[in-house]
Amino acid sequence: MTLICGICGYTSEGGTTPTGNPTCPKCQVVLKRVPEPPMPIEYMGVREPQPPVHVGDGAYASYDGYQIWLMANSPHSSNRVALEPSTFLKFIDYAKTIWVLPR
Ligand SMILES: [Zn+2]
Repeated sequence: MTLICGICGYTSEGGTTPTGNPTCPKCQVVLKRVPEPPMPIEYMGVREPQPPVHVGDGAYASYDGYQIWLMANSPHSSNRVALEPSTFLKFIDYAKTIWVLPR
């Protein structure tokens, strides 16, 4: 975890978990946590194609090695859509406008 000073940009990258509220040695303000950069989605999981699985509510998902496919009501349905990584992330962003998703 990296902490940063909002005033001078001082960063504290510790191998240990900081306790309390560490402050900037120059400005004496409490350091803020720097958000972790998102992991590139292409590194997040398996890359081999995966067979369809039932994900609930009549939806089936499979993976072709690049896109996640969603099928309606049957794993062999022609009612299907392919979601490439950037589209899938937009789908998650859409869900976040409606639900509070677990982190
Ligand atoms: Zn500072």
